[in-house]
Order: sequence, then structure tokens, then C-alpha cells
Amino acid sequence: MKTFNEALLSGETRIRQFLESVPLGVVIRNPDGTVYYLNQIARQLFGIEAMPEDSWSLVTLTDRLYFPGSDRLYPADEIAYSQALSGKSAVIENVEIRFQEKVIPIEVRATPIYDPQGNIIYAMVVIQDISERQAALRERKQAEKMLAEYYQTLQQEVESRTRELELEIVERKIAEAALQAANLELQKLAIVDSLTQVANRRWFDEYLTQEWRRMTREQQPLSLILCDIDFFKHYNDTYGHQAGDECLYQVAKAIAAAAKRPGDLVARYGGEEFAVILPNTPPQGGVRVAEEIQAIVRQMKLLHPDSQVSQYITLSLGIAGTIPTLDLNANILVTAADRALYRAKKEGRDRLMGEKVE
Ligand code: GH3
Ligand code: MG
Ligand code: MG
Repeated sequence: MKTFNEALLSGETRIRQFLESVPLGVVIRNPDGTVYYLNQIARQLFGIEAMPEDSWSLVTLTDRLYFPGSDRLYPADEIAYSQALSGKSAVIENVEIRFQEKVIPIEVRATPIYDPQGNIIYAMVVIQDISERQAALRERKQAEKMLAEYYQTLQQEVESRTRELELEIVERKIAEAALQAANLELQKLAIVDSLTQVANRRWFDEYLTQEWRRMTREQQPLSLILCDIDFFKHYNDTYGHQAGDECLYQVAKAIAAAAKRPGDLVARYGGEEFAVILPNTPPQGGVRVAEEIQAIVRQMKLLHPDSQVSQYITLSLGIAGTIPTLDLNANILVTAADRALYRAKKEGRDRLMGEKVE
């Protein structure tokens, strides 16, 4: 059986037919580099379809090959066949054929063809149009790019959603804090006297009951002071109600300054009357606090020209104190302090009186 080379050398039409039908460009070069044969696809690729076969040896292909995407000529064909003629295989992966308006990316492979004695008699150069492969590659790259962009968008969306959620959490926390502050304010409104900023009557009642019970359990003394501003009606008459209000605020401040222990509670008991609850305090202690209140108010020297006891604001104070017992309740302390206050008023005002709880 003949070898491929032998068949080719014998010029058998079968081999020619075969080469003509191969879906690749095939160029066979003589050892001197001249073209011996081009198959149909090679002729198409190089745009020499019309050229007669006897002038193929004159064809130069190198002047149509370029580095991809540039205007530089690339002697790929020459490199390929000269390598093959020197016994080596050559592969040049990315070259462009250009003629007229056509640009075709190709891959060039070359192999030597030997005679039966082992001499290189031809170089076979195979040219493959790689437009489709490149298009597929471009598509793949495009797909990868789209995927990367999509992934990035997704990531950005996730990030921005996360930020939104974080923002929502912060906003909710702010709202909660505001609500809490509002609640505290409401609670304060419910128990603080808005004019004097000391405890209101409601808080006084609750606190007194609570401390009465606690002192009962602990068997500790509980004292109560009631303070009433002397001739306060005259004060209002002289200076007006607004000045009267301001004076009430100042007196409340003075009383609060005297009741220093954490358990002490100063409250507005009624119009111009204040009360001080003193847990863990015996009546003598209550007297001491009452004296302190008097001293501070005196120091303030709040002018009261229409008072019949002084030119300044003065207080009358009633003090009561006891160790609470189960069979009595806190009212008894209020009644006793009130009686003491009444006596202080009756005996000339600007003074304090104590009353025993019975
Ligand atoms: P006394 O020495 O006997 O206590 O005489 P007083 O005038 O202080 O007592 P009275 O009970 O006759 O009058 C209390 C006055 O306190 C009546 C009112 O003019 C005044 N007063 C009560 N509450 C307020 C208030 O909220 N604001 C002002 N400006 N005055 C008040
Ligand atoms: Mg009064
Ligand atoms: Mg009064």
C-alpha cells in the first residue's frame, strides 16, 4: 500500500479531491518556498480563487497576514513553512488575513512532508479560520462580563438593602427612645407639680402610704412637715398672681434644698402649702429639717411688705412624727401635722410647732 506521501507525490486525483474537500485551508510549499498547491479554502482565504494553477508558484501569502488588530505584517506563513522545511512542526495561533475589506482570524499549522527516503520534499501549511472560535470566545467573555456585572449589581443591591435595614433599625431605635422619653415625660406630668416642679398631691399620697407601710415593717420613725406661707393672699394682692406663682416656685426650691436625703419627698400639698415626707426620721429630726427650711427661706429675703409678721416671706410649719403601727394609717400623721400647723398660725405665724401622734 502506498503511503500518504507517495500518493501525494504520484499526484493521484483521489488525494487532490480529498485535499479540495478538507474544511481547512491547505498550502503545500516546495523546498524553495514557492507554492506548489493551494486547496479551495486556501484560495478563498487568500482571495486568489481566479488565479490559474500554473501561476500558483508566484503567489506570496505573507503580505496578507497581520498581527491581530494591528497594521503590522506578520510573516506567519513564511515562519510556518520554513520551520516545516527544517523538519519542525509550527503552530501560530492568532494571525489575521486581510485583503480587500475582509479580516479573518486564522490559526496556522505547518508540518514537513517526507519522501520514502526521509527527505523533506514539501511543507504542508494548514490554515484554519478561527472566526467562530473567536466569536465563541468573545461570547464567553461577554457572558462572563455580564455575569460579573450582574453579580456586582446583586451585591450592590444586597449592600444597599443591608444599609436600608440598618437605617430602619436606627430609626426604630430613635422612635423607641423618643417614645420612652415621651412616656417618662407623661409619667412625670402625672406626678410632678408643673408650677413648682416638686411632687404633686397624687405622688405625695402614694409615697406617704408606701413609706408608712415600709416604716411599719421596719419599725422605723416617719416624720411629716406641713409648711404654709404666711399671709400669702396679701402677697398676691400686692404683687399679682404671677409674682405669687414665682414666689411659690422659690419657696418650693428652698424646701427642697433643706430635705437632702434620697428618701425625703417634697410635695405641693395644696395652694400655698407644701409637705415634706421624711422616712427613717424621728420628730426631732423633722424639727431640724423644719428649722433648716425656715432658715433658707429667711436667707432668700423674698420681700412681702403686706405681711403682718415680717417684711419678708415667712412660713408656719407643723411637724408630726411617729413609728407607724399596723392599726393606724398615714392620715393620722397628716392630721397631727395639720393641727401643729394650725397652732403655729394661731400663736403668731413665722414659727414651727410639733404635735404628738396619738
Ligand atoms: P395664712 O397666713 O393664714 O396662711 O394666710 P394666707 O393668706 O396665706 O392664707 P389663705 O388660706 O387665706 O390664702 C391662701 C392664698 O394662697 C390664697 C391664694 O391667693 C394663694 N394661692 C393659693 N394657691 C396659689 C397659686 O397657685 N398661685 C398663687 N399665686 N397664689 C396661690
Ligand atoms: Mg393655706
Ligand atoms: Mg397661708
